[in-house]
Amino acid sequence: MKPRIHYTKPTITRLEIDNVNDAVANGWGENCYSYINLFEKKVREYLDVKFAIATSSCTGALHMGLAALNLVRGDEIILADTNWIATVSPISHLGLTPVFVDVLPDTWCLNPEMVKKAITPRTRAIIATHLYGNLCEMNELQVIADQHNIILIEDSAEALGSVFHGKHAGSMGKFAVFSFHGTKLITTGEGGIFVTNDEFLYEKVLTLSNHGRSRFEKKQFWPEEIGFKYKMSNIQAALGCAQIDRLEELLDRKREIYEYYKSCFKNISQIEMNPEFPGTINSYWMPNIVFTRESLIKYDLLRNNFNAENIDARPFFSPLSGLSMYKPQVANINSWDLPGRSINIPSYHDISVAEMDRVAEVIIRTLNER
Ligand SMILES: *Cc1c(COP(=O)(O)O)cnc(C)c1O
Repeated sequence: MKPRIHYTKPTITRLEIDNVNDAVANGWGENCYSYINLFEKKVREYLDVKFAIATSSCTGALHMGLAALNLVRGDEIILADTNWIATVSPISHLGLTPVFVDVLPDTWCLNPEMVKKAITPRTRAIIATHLYGNLCEMNELQVIADQHNIILIEDSAEALGSVFHGKHAGSMGKFAVFSFHGTKLITTGEGGIFVTNDEFLYEKVLTLSNHGRSRFEKKQFWPEEIGFKYKMSNIQAALGCAQIDRLEELLDRKREIYEYYKSCFKNISQIEMNPEFPGTINSYWMPNIVFTRESLIKYDLLRNNFNAENIDARPFFSPLSGLSMYKPQVANINSWDLPGRSINIPSYHDISVAEMDRVAEVIIRTLNER
């Protein structure tokens, strides 16, 4: 068996190890929040946003952000059918109704025309997920949100480092959430962050994140409402501080990996990859290959060939509406069709050229075999 090629994994250097050792040894007592405060500051500065709250996961950050909007059972939230489960589970936990909308064929993100059609008097928010580093059509979505007086939220878990006409992914919506899970561009082991420019919303989420205890309450142990406990630890934040200091390096490497793959497939018209439109920067967090319909690629053959080569390539997200908890929305043509002819290819930062060649070889061979 050839050596395994992993799909993603973090890069850990002396900097991360020293930070974490320092947090474990010294990050207690009066220093118990020092790395958390520093990490939040670094994220705010990088994204150019006013407020940030580090959390134990992106899912938790989204749960609190949605809870802070004071919505009621049956209120509708629009999101792309193509999504990770984490984007919808907080909606369902809060008793809100997810409305799954189709994605565009090239960005694999929300189709604004379909968003317009999905709006009803009960629509309260749109969650724009920037998939695999690709950017949503933020201008069009913001116009729709403003016209209908609804909130635009960014799920930027996969798009740290992507830029839309001078603005960072995660700095444009009413609020945004990021993930620092071990598969993401930077990691804290597990972790996430809530960011916003809205001071009122920030205060509300801060109270929620503290078990419902307001920072202005003089009495100790005195919650004013039922809140949450989704905090990031100081030790995790120490790891995050080192990772964010290396963000440009990690981002450059993701872009280099994408460009290398792109060059491997430059003469193959049946292959499309993550797009980058003028005025935008794609972090290329996850290089994804979409085979054209005409290629007649069989996903099962592709997967078997990758398995035989001991390469961890992953499927494109299945439509959430196809899960047993929801009602199938088969009219979402792209969301339902893309998984059958797409695959995520390995892109961990330390991947070698020889390994990328092994990945490309499987793809080209499968195209010729089909
Ligand atoms: C990873 C991911 C999340 C969830 O992140 P966690 O930190 O694991 O909670 C949410 N949305 C998207 C699009 C993701 O890729």
